[in-house]
Amino acid sequence: MVAYKIAVIPGDGIGPDVTKEAIKVLEALQKMDETFSIDFKFFEWGSEYYLEHGKMMADDGLEQLRKFDAILFGAVGDARVPDEISIWQLIMPIRKQFQQYINMRPIKKLTGIDSPLKNDSPIDFMVFRENAEGEYSNIGGRLYQEQPQEMAIQNTVITKQGVERIAKYAFEYAKKNNKTKVTSATKSNAIIHSMKLWDETVNEVAGDYEGIELESYFIDALAAYFVMRPESFEVVVASNLFGDILTDLGAALVGGLGVSPSGNINPERNFPSMFEAIHGSAPDIAGKGIANPIAQIWSAALMLEHLGHPDLSAAIVSSIETVLQEGEILTPDLGGKSTTSQVGDTIVEKLKQQY
Ligand code: ATP
Ligand code: MG
Repeated sequence: MVAYKIAVIPGDGIGPDVTKEAIKVLEALQKMDETFSIDFKFFEWGSEYYLEHGKMMADDGLEQLRKFDAILFGAVGDARVPDEISIWQLIMPIRKQFQQYINMRPIKKLTGIDSPLKNDSPIDFMVFRENAEGEYSNIGGRLYQEQPQEMAIQNTVITKQGVERIAKYAFEYAKKNNKTKVTSATKSNAIIHSMKLWDETVNEVAGDYEGIELESYFIDALAAYFVMRPESFEVVVASNLFGDILTDLGAALVGGLGVSPSGNINPERNFPSMFEAIHGSAPDIAGKGIANPIAQIWSAALMLEHLGHPDLSAAIVSSIETVLQEGEILTPDLGGKSTTSQVGDTIVEKLKQQY
């Protein structure tokens, strides 16, 4: 029996609602499967905490989290707290301190999901988004404010080492999962410094992987191909900004935010990785009990996979698929009338049927 310690940060808005269901599923699973156990510790950090204490998490928050095997994260975002604070004082420090430089987002159309695409081919690929550098840097500034020549400069930081490590991770994943192709998102025809370094480095890494093809597309074309022939992708590797846009597009193709999971991975495993639905706190539906918990339950499945239990992860995903296929217990975003906890309960039921 392996015992895991998981830190849970439910956060704001629908974060706590969907996280509760993910934990419900994990607890049911650990009762049925004797190979593992999980000890959860809850951290009530987020916007409420900020309004009370003037900070998003405890001063020694990172020190506290460090000891855990993984982190399950809800969402942050609240109208009363500026994004600069909610994001930059909670999620960003965790990602940076714990060197979670890979953001993994499966784009997989589960059976039972209606895609907005007419083409009904299977969609199943993995996007690896660079999570630590790139376009989302705070280097730059505003000049000549309120003058006719007013301008802003925003720098992109692409390092050879940064590209190398994510490209390697993408190729290793491809190799491990018997994939034949990695697709790189670029724009080196117009962004001639940083994206050229991206291309060169990805090419070099590809040279070490015989039998796995590298294809590179300009981001604009790639976005179109996502819509025109999503079935042709296996593994996609992209910079921070490109990956952000591509994964939202990908999510829209396979059922939307309510069913889209993610992992922020520290491949060296010297720090905990963090798993979260890609949606935010969705203030418009917070407190109504109708948020779709599938994205967060699937994120918990990714966490189990990361911890070394692909079979348990697959069991959860298969239960989610059964619920989607039956189409009876679904939240309103998928056209149903059920509540968050009814969906969680039904997924647990399906899981029990597998044991
Ligand atoms: P944040 O500022 O935290 O990012 P947001 O207003 O951008 O919050 P998101 O959570 O990113 O909201 O999602 C955008 C919209 O998608 C929400 O307003 C909500 O209607 C819908 N949505 C997101 N997640 C879910 C979910 N799990 N179930 C149902 N609908 C959802
Ligand atoms: Mg948002």
